[in-house]
Amino acid sequence: MKEWLLGIGVALVIFLAFLHVNILPLLFLGGLAGMLWFMMERRNGTPAIARDIPVKHHVEFDEIGGQETAKRELMEALDFLRYRDRIKSLGIRPLKGILLTGPPGTGKTLMAKAAATYTDSIFLSATGSEFVEMYVGVGAQRVRDLFRRARTSAKKENKDSAIIFIDEIDVLGGRRGQFSHQEYDQTLNQLLTEMDGMSTTQSPSVLLVAATNRSDILDPALLRPGRFDRQIKVDLPDKDGRLHILKIQTRSKPLAENVDMEHIARETYGFSGAQLEALVNEAAIIALRNNGDKVTQEMFRDAVDKVLMGEKTGRKPTEEDLERVAIHELGHAIISELMRPGTVSHITIAPRGDALGFVRQIPESDRYLYTLDHLKQQINVALAGSLAEELHYGNRSTGAQNDFMQASSLARTLVKCGLSRIGIVDEENLPDAVLDTEVRYILAEQDKITRELLKPFKDHILEFAHHIVEEESINGTEFRGWLDPIQATQVGAQKGVTIENTINIQLPETSHSLSQGA
Ligand code: ADP
Ligand code: MG
Ligand code: ZN
Repeated sequence: MKEWLLGIGVALVIFLAFLHVNILPLLFLGGLAGMLWFMMERRNGTPAIARDIPVKHHVEFDEIGGQETAKRELMEALDFLRYRDRIKSLGIRPLKGILLTGPPGTGKTLMAKAAATYTDSIFLSATGSEFVEMYVGVGAQRVRDLFRRARTSAKKENKDSAIIFIDEIDVLGGRRGQFSHQEYDQTLNQLLTEMDGMSTTQSPSVLLVAATNRSDILDPALLRPGRFDRQIKVDLPDKDGRLHILKIQTRSKPLAENVDMEHIARETYGFSGAQLEALVNEAAIIALRNNGDKVTQEMFRDAVDKVLMGEKTGRKPTEEDLERVAIHELGHAIISELMRPGTVSHITIAPRGDALGFVRQIPESDRYLYTLDHLKQQINVALAGSLAEELHYGNRSTGAQNDFMQASSLARTLVKCGLSRIGIVDEENLPDAVLDTEVRYILAEQDKITRELLKPFKDHILEFAHHIVEEESINGTEFRGWLDPIQATQVGAQKGVTIENTINIQLPETSHSLSQGA
């Protein structure tokens, strides 16, 4: 047909040329039409998104560690799909959307896949950014296609339901008008239209599961009843959750006798499920490199370092630098141990990522509230690195920038939470100058305290630093073997925490490192 039209067109043009009609404008118009047609073709032909994830890889709910509450809530919601007949007979309107919110790597995608397995549904997935296009209307078209394909493939596979998973929904579901970009609006409107069109009588039925870590920027229209009816929080796992995830991730790995999962779970405060998965994988890679056939506790320890700090670098610091790094890290370690006995996991001076050395602390337990004392102690620990350098050499180095940033940020938190000497403040109307003065005051005060705490170790620190330089890495037990006798000869080492005020913040800081500096 196309060829026919083209042929007739060419014949017409030649005929007109014969008649000495000026054919230039015609040719021009023809060219223009051709270009338009070509562009339309390209637009319509944009490759379809939403890869059907072959249902070969079933994810079951028991492959997801921790997240017990989220899993229970999700399963409850999914019973809407499993017991559709009852839902229908009671006249309950169907559940249309479930929104999973939480930080990256916590298992939201896994949950969506497990939901498909649990309900025996077709599973289609897409990402918010795939709907964002330069051309107006394309995003909306893609949304329409996605829903249509969900229905047709469910029918083809003889399934009653389909689950559409849209990751990063905030990209397309951000507040309308916010970007002053019509395309976002149209796409979002189309999504809302599709959701409104879902009904109980429809077969196969479609359920939309979306994920985001920015539910705060979502358009309120999406969160209205009848749209994303259920919001389920998928948070970072607590210690038991981490233990569960570690157990799941090591199922197929040969573990040495000495592996203590409990310990690893305790050490990995703030890790997401994805980070734990990476950790287990790294440990196995280390085993491969060492030609081992089992993964040992030490390998897990190195893997934690790697996930936290990055790969070991080939940098070879001079003896002089190594000694300084060791003294610096010892400073952090001493104060950390004085403040919270038993919490130094190990001290390392092997360069990793940007860090020349670091101390890893074991968090006592997962904490969500911090007391004033606790914050001050953390400031002491942060300052202790460069103060130890000063104690021994009489000068400091450039490597402590990170420590100071950390200390200042803790001090700022302290002021903003109303725990400083100026009392409760209105964060919005707090003048910079006042904040600044207060932060300086706190840091100066803690600086003095930390110096005093370090003094008793002045004569002992070099010897142990040399030991660290020789060994490269020292574990907590050995460190305490050195520290405790010295401490025992001192009186008045401060211990114990008094609860003055508590505030609700999260500080997932578990390591102090000396960076390369400027
Ligand atoms: P999200 O979608 O929340 O960013 P994913 O579901 O994509 O996270 O998780 C990425 C990977 O991390 C998973 O494939 C899995 O290996 C691991 N993972 C994350 N959370 C968990 C968990 N709760 N249990 C087991 N593995 C997890
Ligand atoms: Mg994901
Ligand atoms: Zn430091």
